[in-house]
Amino acid sequence: MSNIQFQTNKKPKAAYYTLGCKLNFAETSAIGRALQEKGIERVSGSETPDICVINTCSVTETADKKGRQLIRRLVARHPQATVVVTGCYAQLKPREVAAIEGVDIVLGSNEKLRAAEYVERWLSERHNIMEVTPPLDITIFRPSCERGERTRYFLKVQDGCDYFCTYCTIPYARGRSRSGRIADLTEQARRAAAEGGREIVITGVNIGDFGRDTGEAFLDLLKALDDVEGIERYRISSIEPNLITDKALRWIAEESRAFMPHFHIPLQSGSDAVLRLMNRRYDTTLFRHRIETIVSLMPDAFIGIDIIAGARGETEEEWQRSLDFTASLPVSRCHVFPYSERPGTKALGIDHIVSQEEKHRRVAMLTSLSESKLAGFHRRFEGATRPVLWENSADGRLMHGHTDNYIRVEAPLREELLNRVTPARLLQADASDPETMKAQAL
Ligand code: SF4
Repeated sequence: MSNIQFQTNKKPKAAYYTLGCKLNFAETSAIGRALQEKGIERVSGSETPDICVINTCSVTETADKKGRQLIRRLVARHPQATVVVTGCYAQLKPREVAAIEGVDIVLGSNEKLRAAEYVERWLSERHNIMEVTPPLDITIFRPSCERGERTRYFLKVQDGCDYFCTYCTIPYARGRSRSGRIADLTEQARRAAAEGGREIVITGVNIGDFGRDTGEAFLDLLKALDDVEGIERYRISSIEPNLITDKALRWIAEESRAFMPHFHIPLQSGSDAVLRLMNRRYDTTLFRHRIETIVSLMPDAFIGIDIIAGARGETEEEWQRSLDFTASLPVSRCHVFPYSERPGTKALGIDHIVSQEEKHRRVAMLTSLSESKLAGFHRRFEGATRPVLWENSADGRLMHGHTDNYIRVEAPLREELLNRVTPARLLQADASDPETMKAQAL
């Protein structure tokens, strides 16, 4: 493999910036690894980068705006750097991105993990590059299994989505649903274990759709990963309620060695009428059934849900229905997103637009519901002992970690416990940080 050379003799360095989901973070790390293999190190501290790689998101209009602002800021701060922009915003609006002053390379979703090759090409030709495969032509699954910011690894098992929910642009940004192979994915998990990884988060765009293109089964993937020695914990980052089957839940609860009692299941609306308008593939009856199945099998499980507030068609009556349904669910936390109009989506044809002001009111009500659910969940575990995977904190006095059931905890630093799973007693929620409980490592 050739080493990339810059005109100056100093070794080139790259800086990486990621917006959006866990999958994007995993893929940014994979890009970094590929550039490193070509001799391009990551900048450290206040070093000036020769290359800036920006992995964007386009889930909302605000995400696009954040992408544009970040690109402009970096171009202004590092005018000499080669600027590479990829991710969903680059895939959906490549010309808009390419038109931003200072952008040198624009890469779509299919090209993203080959960024190192494009940097090399740019350096020899010095012509701006824009390579974006149309979404329906994206058929190749490009694997990544990378260490996140902390101790966890993110293993991509699936990419793309064929669901076409009416409000969502992701199928246009990431292409058709496609999966890795169980044998390759378990090999990547083994590699992560060999590098000292203890916990793997299984990521993808529509993870439960795993294997539809290859004939393999999601549950077989979970079982194969469970057998990988050295990995003590797995979490499934997010999975559609119609795809996490009762059979898989029962296996996780009763037979799995390392899958944690932690689930993230998108609800999006608690109104059946709005779910139909969204083209979601379940109704509230199925959703409640899944949540109650989890609770009956794993009473201590952390269950997070996503909800969109103020979607088109969410009349006052449907909003009330949605709020009541959400409040009645035994979940631990709600991630609330204000509905965002996306050009080209079918949702734009739905009548009844919720005003900005009303949308904010609904976001605030759901956020406060979520805070009280999280506080209630934490209170249940005051005084309990749970296993924690410990990681360093920046201040050098404390260590942080998550329990098996995803409670974030904080305890006085004990170096010998870092990157190990050990029992901890949960004391109480930290008043200054409602996300975290104080804990004592035992
Ligand atoms: S399932 Fe729906 S919301 Fe999720 S990525 Fe696919 S189209 Fe978007």
